[in-house]
Amino acid sequence: MVSYHVVRALSRCRTDEQRLLLVLDFQDGALSALWESFNMLATGTVSTLQAYDSGAYQSVRVCDNMECGRLCRRNEIKRCSSCHQANYCSARCQSIDWHVNGHRAICPRLRPLPLAEHPLLSARDGSFLRALIHHLHEARIVAWCMQKVHFMYMYPGVPFYVLCDYTRGGAIMAAHACTELPRDAACPSAAQWEDQVARMGRSGGRMDIVVVLVASGTRKVRHVVALRTNSSVLNDALARTATSLSPGLDRATVESVVRNRIDEALQERRARGEHKSEWEYL
Ligand SMILES: [Zn+2]
Ligand SMILES: [Zn+2]
Repeated sequence: MVSYHVVRALSRCRTDEQRLLLVLDFQDGALSALWESFNMLATGTVSTLQAYDSGAYQSVRVCDNMECGRLCRRNEIKRCSSCHQANYCSARCQSIDWHVNGHRAICPRLRPLPLAEHPLLSARDGSFLRALIHHLHEARIVAWCMQKVHFMYMYPGVPFYVLCDYTRGGAIMAAHACTELPRDAACPSAAQWEDQVARMGRSGGRMDIVVVLVASGTRKVRHVVALRTNSSVLNDALARTATSLSPGLDRATVESVVRNRIDEALQERRARGEHKSEWEYL
């Protein structure tokens, strides 16, 4: 239920403002609960589609010189004319990324790949997927932060991504080390993955890599979405929280200890207005 066209079709099935599809009276209680959870999932996804269709999710570009990382409108940014994968706000940033940050080395390996990082998705499906992930990040921000803090606590300094597994209905989130990405999928390519991980490292906490796992027929397909912001304040607070914990705690204890600190960090984030505007997606 991450494809624009599937969700569009679902939205046509709504019976009133709140409910989707038919209210079916299953004799089987378990089936009824399953149907209800599907309805809830569909209702949430359709509301994201409505926000997307109304233009609430403006696609912006982010400068890929990570030391800059400026959020720009699409017409303010230039793409690397060779690989079409990297975006820059200025010739200076492009030059720094080419000469200092190593784009010169990886650019030829990115070049033969398709433009889109979502080769099995149309441009609109790709952009809707990014809107969904952006929405998920905001709607489940506490759980998202919890995953990050727990991973930082367990594996200090190890780069990680957040897996959003949609193959069993709603998104199930979990943090994984970047080295654990199985190589059995064409997307992303090894070079694209290496490039994203290196950029995340240089971002200083202003970028999360999100791997979206979806079912496509009998296959499972991965799509990579980079969530970027121009502030590392929230990430820094999470990292400080992780390093302040005493060693050897189990997951439940970590979660109970850090819950208040995450709430405080999110309150500060709200006070800065960051939740409204700064998180954007590629
Ligand atoms: Zn390039
Ligand atoms: Zn820049």
